[in-house]
Amino acid sequence: MAARVFLVGAGPGDPDLLTVKAARLLGQAGIVLHDSLVDARILALAARAEMIDVGKRCGKASAAQSTINELLVACARTGQIVVRLKGGDPMIFGRATEEVQALEAAGFDCEVVPGVTAAVAAAASLKLSLTRRREARTVHFLTGHGAEGGLPAHDFAALARAGGTLAIYMGGQTVSGLAAHFIEAGLAPETPAVAVENATLATERRFFGTMATLPRIVADAKPEGPVLLLIGVAVENAGHALEALEEAESE
Ligand code: SAH
Repeated sequence: MAARVFLVGAGPGDPDLLTVKAARLLGQAGIVLHDSLVDARILALAARAEMIDVGKRCGKASAAQSTINELLVACARTGQIVVRLKGGDPMIFGRATEEVQALEAAGFDCEVVPGVTAAVAAAASLKLSLTRRREARTVHFLTGHGAEGGLPAHDFAALARAGGTLAIYMGGQTVSGLAAHFIEAGLAPETPAVAVENATLATERRFFGTMATLPRIVADAKPEGPVLLLIGVAVENAGHALEALEEAESE
């Protein structure tokens, strides 16, 4: 039997960035379990569904992950079409594997519907390519938040040496610790860096700096929404190009 449980990416915020498949499934769903941060305009597409807010914010679970897993299995047992809606792409820093395994252990198949992940959305919003010929041959997606809180135990030296673009999720609170570790591990303090808050939403804000200056800039800005950090030579000039564009538009 075809899967009736779907792990669906809600994208970064802008409802227009939802996939056609995600929109269709939301319209067909009997039950939607969603993270708290999913935009109300996206939730409104699930006109016929019972809505369950499982409360995840910025990747931190307010309901324990085990409770979410059990709830998902209980919903699957109803036989209705169940959509588990997660911000961005469901498989990037979303603990989706645990949900897939819980479903499988209970005998339910599920299907994954990808979504636009925050790093890609933030880069698009800045008209910035995460890769650059010769200069940025790799992109790393990193968490800025360790599983036990604080900083994660990355191999900072290896990442600094790789010399590509670093896209850091959940790093809004830990940016100063991250910067200190990266600089100590050999990343040039003047490496271009940007923090993007609420990417793709009307409330989007961008903060440009360098690896050395970004912590202070972010602290002063006191972001309240989710923040994505992009670091590396690929970020160079993005700020200048946008400022010039905005000045030209306001003239
Ligand atoms: N599965 C999600 C990521 C979940 S972790 C995805 O693929 O995008 C949550 C983190 O994602 C946040 O702390 C932030 O770093 C990032 N994020 C999600 N939406 C964002 C947005 N609209 N703007 C900036 N960062 C965002």
